[in-house]
Amino acid sequence: MNQEAPSPARTAVLIAGGGLAGLSLAVALKAALGTSFSVTVADPSIDAPPADSGRASAFAAAARRMFEATGVWDAIAPEAQPILDMVVTDSRTLDVVRPVFLTFDGEVAPGEPFAHMAPNAVVIRALWERAKALGVTFAPTSVAGFEADAHETRVTLADGRVVATPLLVACDGGRSRLRDLAGIRTVGWDYGQSGIVCTVAHEHDHEGRAEEHFLPSGPFAILPLTGRRSSIVWTEETGRAERLCRLPAELFLDELETRFGHRLGEIRLIDRPAAYPLGLKVARDFVAPRLALVGDAAHVIHPIAGQGINMGFRDVAALAECLADAARLGMDHGAADVLARYQRWRRFDTAVMGVTTDGLNRLFSNGSQPLRFVRDLGLGLVDRMPGLKSFFIRQAAGITGEVPKLLRGQTP
Ligand SMILES: Cc1cc2nc3c(=O)[nH]c(=O)nc-3n(C[C@H](O)[C@H](O)[C@H](O)COP(=O)(O)OP(=O)(O)OC[C@H]3O[C@@H](n4cnc5c(N)ncnc54)[C@H](O)[C@@H]3O)c2cc1C
Repeated sequence: MNQEAPSPARTAVLIAGGGLAGLSLAVALKAALGTSFSVTVADPSIDAPPADSGRASAFAAAARRMFEATGVWDAIAPEAQPILDMVVTDSRTLDVVRPVFLTFDGEVAPGEPFAHMAPNAVVIRALWERAKALGVTFAPTSVAGFEADAHETRVTLADGRVVATPLLVACDGGRSRLRDLAGIRTVGWDYGQSGIVCTVAHEHDHEGRAEEHFLPSGPFAILPLTGRRSSIVWTEETGRAERLCRLPAELFLDELETRFGHRLGEIRLIDRPAAYPLGLKVARDFVAPRLALVGDAAHVIHPIAGQGINMGFRDVAALAECLADAARLGMDHGAADVLARYQRWRRFDTAVMGVTTDGLNRLFSNGSQPLRFVRDLGLGLVDRMPGLKSFFIRQAAGITGEVPKLLRGQTP
């Protein structure tokens, strides 16, 4: 008997990956285009919101504006700590006094901090809840393959289902399988460094102050969380980072205290440290036929400036705007010209940020005395030039350049 295969399910956009990038894109599209525009997120772990991972990020003012515009911020706000002040020092690990070379007051506009620190899991949970409430379809499986033709792409899910869509969006992280399947190459390199991440409780209030100490092995950041807690991102050569993470808790704490200092009184570890290898990886193309790359799938950068997912949110906001403009005009939102507009918008900006963070890391992960003299002179100059300082604050807040509507707090 000749049985016809059942026709595949359809969705206006299929997003592979339900991390920060994928879920914020799903929410942005639904907030902009409403119930008639169907959005599906496929991710093996999308069934339930994530458990706490111990990871936290600096979310720039632009990201907060997007979360406000899409109705997510209220769920994040109770656990978001505004960064009110930031100091940068450049010293050796055992220096007792660390001269401050640069200070920033943390406001980008009166009453608006340039960034907030929040646990990643809190933000993902808020996005997950909002996506559900807005009617996003969740497929708890991974994308296994896809085949594009002139009108649509047929996506095969790991559970055997096939879904047809005008546009597949890869939000599947730095090791993106979809990027590889599309044959998109990347440029970049490993730094041979890892970021050790952990959370500490301390005796005294941090008063919203973030600290970045440029130590010879790389930046050591103390980032304020709500209450008397801070998130640590500590850069070390990868082998050493792994050895440090394997130390018994009290020995690890000794090493940590040497770098942390005593300004906040006694410290206590409140989760297990974990090391994340660091590298630079930028996709040569951000689009392929009926495919767009967003977030870490498009670019992985050094966390020295806390900009990784903030760059991802610029992708999200730019793509949402391109798709909303096309959909409202009744055009094919997965067509090549729509994707070309997205790529033009994002690729140059990303390359600039990749080069900047790479340069900063090379300049500061270095114990050379002459180099230290030159960079300290540079930091001191920036500190004395209010115009330059305010430029850096606006840059860190994500509100320079051609800012998409969502990052200005408007729905696209
Ligand atoms: C130490 C460290 C500190 C950082 N600090 C900051 C900071 O302060 N500020 C900042 O802006 N950024 C920071 N970053 C960067 C930030 O963490 C990343 O940019 C961000 O997590 C990337 O999110 P994403 O959604 O693109 O990818 P991911 O978080 O990697 O999510 C990818 C998702 O895709 C899913 N997936 C994978 N394959 C498939 C498939 N085939 N089909 C379907 N789903 C799939 C996975 O299950 C996962 O849920 C930091 C990074 C590091 C390492």
